[in-house]
Amino acid sequence: MIELGGYTPLSTVDWPGRLAAVAFVQGCPWRCAYCHNAVLQQRGPGAGPSWTQVLRVLERRAGLLDGVVFSGGEPTLAPRLDAAVAQVRSLGLGAALHTAGIYPQRLQALLPSLAWVGFDLKTGFADYDALTLRRSSGLRARRALELVLASGVAHEIRTTYHPAWVSDQALVETARSLKALGAGAWVLQRWWPRATDDAALVGGWRWPDASVLQALRIAGPPLTLR
Ligand code: SF4
Repeated sequence: MIELGGYTPLSTVDWPGRLAAVAFVQGCPWRCAYCHNAVLQQRGPGAGPSWTQVLRVLERRAGLLDGVVFSGGEPTLAPRLDAAVAQVRSLGLGAALHTAGIYPQRLQALLPSLAWVGFDLKTGFADYDALTLRRSSGLRARRALELVLASGVAHEIRTTYHPAWVSDQALVETARSLKALGAGAWVLQRWWPRATDDAALVGGWRWPDASVLQALRIAGPPLTLR
C-alpha cells in the first residue's frame, strides 16, 4: 500500500477549517534546501505506522474527523495512493493532499477524488531546478498547477519565503505566472528555521520590501502573508 514516515491523529491546521488526521507519506525525489521533512525524503519503509494500522484507527475515529490529509515527503510518489484515498472516502471521510506537483499525471488521476489540495509552489518556474536540485522540476510543477487550477478542486497555493531561496525577481515572476494561469489567491508563508540552520540564515529572514509586496499585489492574484 503506502509507506508512512509518520501519522498525526488530529490536526486543525493542515486542512484549513477542517479537523483532519495527517498521513506523512515516505519519500520525495526533490532536495529542496530548506526542507523541514528531510527524514521523509528517502524512499522505502518509513518510521510511521503501517497503512493498515492507520485505517483501523480511522475506522474508530471516522465520526470525529472531517478527513485525512496525505502529506509528505511527496505523497504522489506512492503508486497506490489512489487506493488509500479510496479507502479513506469509503469511511465517509474527505481526502486532501499536500503536494509540490512532482508527478502531474498521478495528480491528474487523483484530483477527482480529492476535496482539497495544498499546493507547494516553490518559486518562479524558471528558478525551480536550483532550489529543488532536480532538473525539469519547474516544468512538472507548472503542469501540476495547471491541472489543479483546471480541476475545480478547492485548493491553496502557498510559497515558503526566505530571501536566500526566493529572489525578488522570482517572486514577481511567480505572481505574474499565477495571474496568467488564473489562480484566485496566493499565500506567501514565512520560512521557519530548523535546529540545524546557521545564524546567518536565521538572521537573514525578512519579508520582502514594501515596494516588492506592492509589485506582487499588482502583478499577481490577491496575496496573503502568513
Ligand atoms: S518537495 Fe517538499 S518534501 Fe520534497 S524535498 Fe522539497 S520541501 Fe522536502
